[in-house]
Amino acid sequence: MSEWEKNVRKVEPYTPGEQPDFTDMIKLNTNENPYPPSPGVIQALKETAADSLRLYPDPAASELVKALAGYHNVDPDQVFVGVGSDDVLAMSFLAFFNSKKPVLFPDITYSFYDVWAELFRIPYHRPRLDDNFRIRKTDYFQENGGIIFPNPNAPTGLEMDLKEIEEILVHNRDVVVIIDEAYVDFGASSALPLVSRFDNLLIVRTFSKSRCLAGLRIGYAIGSPGLIRYLNDVKYSFNSYTMSRTAIAAGAAAVRDQNYFEDTCAKIIDTREWAKQELRKLGFLFPDSRTNFIFATHPSCPAEQLFSELRKAHIFVRHFPQERIRDYLRITIGTRTQMEALFAFLQTYNRTIRQ
Ligand SMILES: *Cc1c(COP(=O)(O)O)cnc(C)c1O
Repeated sequence: MSEWEKNVRKVEPYTPGEQPDFTDMIKLNTNENPYPPSPGVIQALKETAADSLRLYPDPAASELVKALAGYHNVDPDQVFVGVGSDDVLAMSFLAFFNSKKPVLFPDITYSFYDVWAELFRIPYHRPRLDDNFRIRKTDYFQENGGIIFPNPNAPTGLEMDLKEIEEILVHNRDVVVIIDEAYVDFGASSALPLVSRFDNLLIVRTFSKSRCLAGLRIGYAIGSPGLIRYLNDVKYSFNSYTMSRTAIAAGAAAVRDQNYFEDTCAKIIDTREWAKQELRKLGFLFPDSRTNFIFATHPSCPAEQLFSELRKAHIFVRHFPQERIRDYLRITIGTRTQMEALFAFLQTYNRTIRQ
């Protein structure tokens, strides 16, 4: 190792799902929305005057913050926005997880959490999900330096009852508790009503899944004005202009197009419930998803092999090599037509492996 390398901050980066580029592909591997953004978003993108791009954006992203505050019925000083929820989460780790005690998150969860913990040198501990992949609330009653988990959890898709989240909060008044609600719009209950009672609760959301805007990179957090102030202090110490003019305008338009958003979510929920029945008929087993994906395993076909066979047919799903879940595939809910193509493939495949 060269001398200079000894002082390099070495990290093992997060591996994002692949972004293949085939015209005929069925992309069910990164939980994107299969539908286009709302008409208002397209309009806003056209209207963001090209000549305004020579100017810096509003560092406070007020138009977007106000739209979100209105939508969630909170004050604008309770809203923080960032470049995708990954940015919001990274800022939150940096701002709130600054204790010598370990931050707690499940052993099976969004695989970026341990990467940020390593990057920022935050100690962490990962309580094991139970055998049905459920978070055990009592694991989060132990002493800690902060708590984070998604609800519903990823990649399991399972929702935790709001009552249990409340119990976790009652046991953790002295640390920041972050609930990552990336998938909450697909039929789960939000912990937002608890924000007024717990000034240490931060809810993180994204425009990438339910709002069809993964490509634009918009995420946000809602919490007490105190939490949001600390987040902004960290953001302004890092990069004042995180949100582009385009993202601010299009994001605000997406929030205003509430009917489109609700219709899109309803369609995905419908397709998901139908997909569950189809998967069951094919012999797959899976936790009951409240998200835009299903985490499925099959007793007689190894996940990795099925993953490669699907890939050859340009049907992309996600496989995680991690212990306990390497027999599972995470399948994003696409359009009905995309899912029909997936099931047609699986039916044929099922017949071959039974022979
Ligand atoms: C997709 C996802 C994110 C990141 O979303 P972006 O807004 O696209 O950065 C964060 N947390 C969870 C649990 C996710 O699934």
